[in-house]
Formats: sequence, C-alpha cells, structure tokens
Amino acid sequence: MKKGKTFIVSGPSGVGKGSVLKVLLEKRKDVYVSVSATTRQPRTGEENGVHYHFLDVDTFHEWMAQDAFLEYAEYVGNFYGTPKRFVDEAMEAGRDVILEIDVQGALQIAHKRPDAVLIFIAPPSWEELARRLTLRGTDSPEKIEKRLLRAKVECRTAGAYHYFVINDTIENAAMELDAIMTAEHCRSMERMEIISGN
Ligand code: 5GP
Repeated sequence: MKKGKTFIVSGPSGVGKGSVLKVLLEKRKDVYVSVSATTRQPRTGEENGVHYHFLDVDTFHEWMAQDAFLEYAEYVGNFYGTPKRFVDEAMEAGRDVILEIDVQGALQIAHKRPDAVLIFIAPPSWEELARRLTLRGTDSPEKIEKRLLRAKVECRTAGAYHYFVINDTIENAAMELDAIMTAEHCRSMERMEIISGN
C-alpha cells in the first residue's frame, strides 16, 4: 500500500491554525492530525489526549530518553514534541498526516524526512494577530507580547517553507491548504509510480 504524506503546518500562535484545520478535516476525514505532547498547562476546554498529551517535565524528559519523539522543541517556556509512533502507524496505513508544530520542529523534520511538505500560515497583519491573541483571552499581556515577538522571528524563517498561506478568512485558508494537499498528490513522480505499479 502507498504510504501517506507528511504535511507540516506552522504559523504564529493565535494565527488560527486550529480553526483552519478543523474546516479542512470536514472535507478530508481520513487525515491524521498528530496529537503533540506538551508541558504547558491545559487551556479551558482542552482535553488530555485530544488536544495535547499534557505531561509534566519529568515525563517529557523520559519520553525524550526513550526516543519517543519525531521532534521536540521549547516554545515560550514550555516543551512540545511529536510522538513518533502514531505518526508512523498512520502513514504506514496510507493516511496523510498533519503535524501542527513550530518552526524549530518543522526544520528538524525537514532534515530527517525531506519529502515532508512545509506550509506556513501567516496572519493578514501584525495588528490582526495581536487582536486575535487578545481576544482568545488565555494569555497574560506579557505572554502575548512574548508570543508576538516570537511570531515575528518565525515569519522570517518562512522562506524555508514550500507554501505560504495567509489566513484572511478561515474558509479561504482551508481551501488553499486543501489545494496544496491535492497538488502534492499530483506530483509527477508519485503519479508515475502509481502507473508503473499497475
Ligand atoms: P500553543 O501553546 O499555542 O498550543 O502552541 C504553541 C506553539 O507550539 C505553536 O506554534 C504550535 O504550533 C507549537 N507546537 C505544538 N505542538 C508542537 C510539537 O509537537 N512540536 C513543536 N516543535 N511545536 C509544537
């Protein structure tokens, strides 16, 4: 069976990656979205094992020692990592996988798995990003300031990504993401392999 593809979706905190992916998944029901592990505290409404695997720092370090992560990074004072096993199982089963991870993690995966497709989601403006972070109401003004600073640094590395999607409206961004996934499956090498396999 043909293996699934890995799509990495990055973008500043608050840009709306979660909302865009939610709309995309209504159309692409078979896509596996990796559930990351993190040491940050759950936000209201976030469930363990659904939004993240919420771990304490010691357990996170144990997973690191067991080589259980495909990649991991520190982001604004907390650790985040992609558990390897579930991603590999989904890909072996022929499912496309989406990893919603930060730029440091994306670059680690691009190095290890050069066929991964890197997609950066950007806000229409910095003012809009600040507005969305404030509206979310989950971070203190200092934390928001840190996340905004981090966002500007991240956008400078977006040149390493294959695609750049601007989240002006969730529907548009989801449509572009969907088009990118379709285009990646139409790459000539992949199509030629299918034909020569017949
Ligand atoms: P948040 O705290 O807002 O949920 O996430 C903060 C940042 O961590 C976001 O940019 C998000 O994409 C990133 N992130 C979430 N999971 C992972 C992961 O497994 N690995 C890495 N490297 N970054 C992650």
